[in-house]
Amino acid sequence: MRRVRHAKIIATIGPATASEGRIAELFEAGADIFRLNFSHGTYEGHKEAFEAIRKMEMKFFRPISVIADLQGPKLRLGEFAGGSAYLKAGAAFRLDLAADLGDQVRAPLPHPEVFAAVEPGTELLLDDGKIRLAVRSCGADFAETEVVTGGLLSDHKGVNVPDAVLDFSALTDKDRRDLAFALDLGVDWIALSFVQRPEDLAEARRLIGGRAALMAKLEKPSAVGHLFEIVDLADAVMVARGDLGVEVPPEDVPALQKRIVRACRYAGKPVVVATQMLDSMVNAPTPTRAEASDVATAVYDGGDAVMLSAETAIGDHPEAAVAMMDRIIRRVEQDPPYRKIMNAEHAAPEATSSDAITAAARQVAETIDAAVIVTFTSSGSTTLRAARERPSVPILGLTTSARTARELALVWGVHSVMVPDLESFDAMVDEAVAVARREEFVTPGDKLVITAGVPLGTPGATNILRIAFAV
Ligand code: PGA
Ligand code: MN
Repeated sequence: MRRVRHAKIIATIGPATASEGRIAELFEAGADIFRLNFSHGTYEGHKEAFEAIRKMEMKFFRPISVIADLQGPKLRLGEFAGGSAYLKAGAAFRLDLAADLGDQVRAPLPHPEVFAAVEPGTELLLDDGKIRLAVRSCGADFAETEVVTGGLLSDHKGVNVPDAVLDFSALTDKDRRDLAFALDLGVDWIALSFVQRPEDLAEARRLIGGRAALMAKLEKPSAVGHLFEIVDLADAVMVARGDLGVEVPPEDVPALQKRIVRACRYAGKPVVVATQMLDSMVNAPTPTRAEASDVATAVYDGGDAVMLSAETAIGDHPEAAVAMMDRIIRRVEQDPPYRKIMNAEHAAPEATSSDAITAAARQVAETIDAAVIVTFTSSGSTTLRAARERPSVPILGLTTSARTARELALVWGVHSVMVPDLESFDAMVDEAVAVARREEFVTPGDKLVITAGVPLGTPGATNILRIAFAV
């Protein structure tokens, strides 16, 4: 079973798709990676979904990645008397730590970090930015604000403070519990929400202890300020446009998206473009043409993966949304200018044999018109490096590690396959040819470009490039 596209599709599991049958349908429609969103659902539900996904792996005989997405320190209001209150533009509105139910002049905000970080003039955005408040005065446990944009506010609505770096870790107590649970399940990726600083990643990395790969969700302007350090410390990055789009004005989102995707491509780190991609498909069987164009933009930019959230979690047409993404990606990738864009820039190889050979593999493959590049990898780093070149031919990532095979499911152009431990380089070549044939990447006579490291099994020791013919 092979996909005929380079960019990957992430589908979020939710009430609309949390059964074995639905997950199989999403996979067949094109989902390569599944996301369990710990902002919603129960442990029981996540466990069932996880087990169903692992069953799918056996059924389709393909490594499938699972991302556990931690909620992070999402700020929320407390509750209102009667569940809601209407805030009038120009009126005074107070936020404080008291637990009393809110009304149209005051509401509880149980987050002391916010009061510590704001100052007169700071803007607070409520309910995804629909309501805006400007701080007039504040203390350790309150802020007096003026309503800039009014509206109806209800229990537990989100609060964003775009201008401030808040003094909290990217992991709440809930996140720590969720993280332990997700690691016990055996997920492949941990996605960390509201990363503000590089230190946030170091803390998560320590807690993960090598049991999963780490994806940084960029949804705070302060994180964009540390873009290169964060890309460097993370194993992958998500452009989380939902919250990012609340924290920055809409006109800033496209440029930030391109900047983040470029930084990741340059560093050879997988990058995901997420949120609202086919949003109208939550209710409608087809997307707006603007949404189709949004997915296409992420693909033209060379992003590794595009993501569906509500579309597959709670939508009426989850399968159709995945199938639509699949079609858009394939269409873009056949467009001649797409290839020109991918070819326009290649990062200079580092001065190591590994990097030189992996970078050369693309050139060799394209020069001799090979059908596939085969990379033998233990940690996945060689395959990532091959993908960084954005070659015109598919990349087979062969590995003895189930972990690596699953992690690579996220990566642009990579079809990962588990292989047994092999004794010699000749055996590796035979295996590469056999796998490429079995997985339908070559027919007899096709050329393969194979990279590997000898002695075998040393991570990052790629030092051989071989051209082989399919039999
Ligand atoms: P979320 O993250 O769906 O967990 O909020 C993605 C985003 O903010 O875009
Ligand atoms: Mn978010």
